[in-house]
Amino acid sequence: MFDKYIDFLNDLKLLYDRMDHAYGEISDAYGFHCAGCSDNCCLTRFFHHTLIEFLYLQKGFAGLDESLREAVRKEAEEVTEKVRQAEDSGIVPQIMCPLNKKGLCILYEYRPMICRLHGIPHEFAHPVRNKILGPGCHEFEKQCGETAYLEFNRTPFYQKMARLERGVRELTGITDKFKKTVAQMLVEDPEKIL
Ligand code: SF4
Repeated sequence: MFDKYIDFLNDLKLLYDRMDHAYGEISDAYGFHCAGCSDNCCLTRFFHHTLIEFLYLQKGFAGLDESLREAVRKEAEEVTEKVRQAEDSGIVPQIMCPLNKKGLCILYEYRPMICRLHGIPHEFAHPVRNKILGPGCHEFEKQCGETAYLEFNRTPFYQKMARLERGVRELTGITDKFKKTVAQMLVEDPEKIL
């Protein structure tokens, strides 16, 4: 099913490569490296908003060994339920992403944009509010909080992502908003969505 979207998925890979490269350059310039930090971003409940990233993650997921895929899907169902219960109780959930195994992402090449960009301070051009500055993560503040900001502009990445998403939307005809955690994406059957 992914063949139909292959041009978009190949472009997304190139975009991810650009993000990783830009992120690496800036984090190296800061001397910031995250390894084994207690404020693990894989514990953070991030939402992802694009069908194209859902597709790309599912493409990676489809390549896993079937027994591992089944185990991860089951775990993703449990995580989704735990997150729901925590939110219903007014608690901000801190539950490990089902793709994190022994501290490593088993779909690292397929991880979504926010997994790639989180951590270092950044800026982006908001269509109404002009430039928005975003902070680094807690670990960044501990390691490099005293260092002057180095420009890391997410705007071109967001713009390219929006263009790719528009292309996938045109192809599918889907206009509904997309907002899911990684766990929620993994429990979905892409054939039923697309
Ligand atoms: S997709 Fe990978 S990098 Fe992103 S939160 Fe899950 S385990 Fe962490």
